[in-house]
Amino acid sequence: MIETGDFTIDNRIVTSEAIEEDAALDKGLRPQTLSEYIGQDKVKENLAIYIEAARRRDGALDHVLLYGPPGLGKTTLSAIIAREMGVNLRITTGPAIERPGDLAAILTNLSPGDVLFIDEIHRLSRAVEEILYPALEDHAIDIIVGKGPSARSLRVDLPEFTLVGATTRAGQLSAPLRDRFGIVQRLELYTPEQLSDIIRRSSQILGIPCTLDGALELAKRSRGTPRIANRLLKRVRDFADVLGDGEITEVIARTALDRLEIDRLGLDSNDRRMLDMIIRSYGGGPVGLETLAAALGEEAVTLEDVCEPFLMQLGFLARTPRGRCATQLAYAHLGYPPPQSPGMLPEQMELGTE
Ligand code: ADP
Repeated sequence: MIETGDFTIDNRIVTSEAIEEDAALDKGLRPQTLSEYIGQDKVKENLAIYIEAARRRDGALDHVLLYGPPGLGKTTLSAIIAREMGVNLRITTGPAIERPGDLAAILTNLSPGDVLFIDEIHRLSRAVEEILYPALEDHAIDIIVGKGPSARSLRVDLPEFTLVGATTRAGQLSAPLRDRFGIVQRLELYTPEQLSDIIRRSSQILGIPCTLDGALELAKRSRGTPRIANRLLKRVRDFADVLGDGEITEVIARTALDRLEIDRLGLDSNDRRMLDMIIRSYGGGPVGLETLAAALGEEAVTLEDVCEPFLMQLGFLARTPRGRCATQLAYAHLGYPPPQSPGMLPEQMELGTE
């Protein structure tokens, strides 16, 4: 928490990771059908075809891998897939499945056709993954019964099911696991127009009056992420109630977001700190991610999953084989004179990962 005058600000407001208060908010706001799901048109079109084909065959949908930054709608999509297929949804996460036995228990309790959603699937342990392979391919698992020389392997058949895996980092998935997904879809950050539609939908559901301009102002500052858009809507409502007549207008949205230290492009204090560090301490880069994380006192994964996708979408940050660089656009946005050295334009950067 940071204090600014008479306001106390939770500086996690623009994190795209789910936080506690989201659970209640999510419940009522999650779209239930593909047609209610705004944006991600390519993903929706593809899924609609695969779902229809599976329905006609009267079989389970092929395994689906959804990847992209947090808060873009992966969990929501998995629930929609289950609903459209008319089956149950089981939700778990990679880190929650600690032992092979945990996964065996989940798998043997599935009904035919069910969707099993595993969030953060890149965090499954090797031993758990080993159980998953035959389950995905042959609808069976091998359980070891007994110990020592008398131990034997018992094959247990499973119903046909669909695994929906979600990850923020597809690159960290082991190749054998990645290969077992028939459908791989990448979710993109949303445009301000799409986020504005999401905010207007949410404001109707929550009964918060919001003008078109007000919604667009919130949308522009939501880092391309529906979870953040919904969170800002809820937070700005308080400002509208206290400073105005309850309606979120452009002026109210702007005042509230300035108070929340979210600038007109949606950068929060962490984004600005990161860019500032690259520019002031490392001459604009390149600087390695780990070095940057240590200097900022942040986890490298947080920078990579939360700050970077958005800063790269804005063209403020480039990833080069030698490290991260701030672009001329970032210099201008933070009010610094243009860098001396050439090669700082986004189009001149050699894109790649460290
Ligand atoms: P993820 O699993 O990728 O972290 P979620 O599926 O939990 O993200 O989505 C976060 C919130 O954003 C949900 O509460 C949902 O209401 C909203 N949301 C996500 N995608 C959309 C969308 N395409 N249209 C409308 N709301 C969305």
